[in-house]
Amino acid sequence: MSLTGLLQFVGRYLQRLELSLSQAAGFDRFGPALAVNGPGILPQSHHSSDDENAQPSFLDSIFWMAAPKKRRTIEVNRCRRRDPHKLIKVKNNIEPCSDCGNMKLKHTLCGYCYEKVRKETAVIRKQISIMEGGPLNTPAVESVVLYENETPSDADKDKRIVERNRKRPYWFTM
Ligand SMILES: [Zn+2]
Repeated sequence: MSLTGLLQFVGRYLQRLELSLSQAAGFDRFGPALAVNGPGILPQSHHSSDDENAQPSFLDSIFWMAAPKKRRTIEVNRCRRRDPHKLIKVKNNIEPCSDCGNMKLKHTLCGYCYEKVRKETAVIRKQISIMEGGPLNTPAVESVVLYENETPSDADKDKRIVERNRKRPYWFTM
């Protein structure tokens, strides 16, 4: 063995000895530290007699929350999901609209027809608001809506006339 090899060996041996000595003396600053729960070491105060009048903590109930004990089979789950009282009821009160032919509930307005009227009425309302130019300008006379190729009759003489530049819809009667 050469002199250099001997010196390296002695150096490594001294390093190891230093490390083991410092560990034994408790000065090991860079080694893995052992984490210990505080109350296990610290002197415990004896409050076990105060447990009766202690306020219940929300942590007490966390461990007792409801949880399923057994897995429910898919058959049981499907029986519950497809129970007859959960299914949508079959409706027998549906009929076609006499006006447009779409299906609708009996004794109710047809949604399609209602939408047509709603849109036309909104257009007329907008036209009226443009004619008045602002709120509180409504004249104290009746209004009459006239469509294309219509002339005011004698009954409409004193009324305000709202003109629509389209053909009168068949459902909008005079
Ligand atoms: Zn309809």
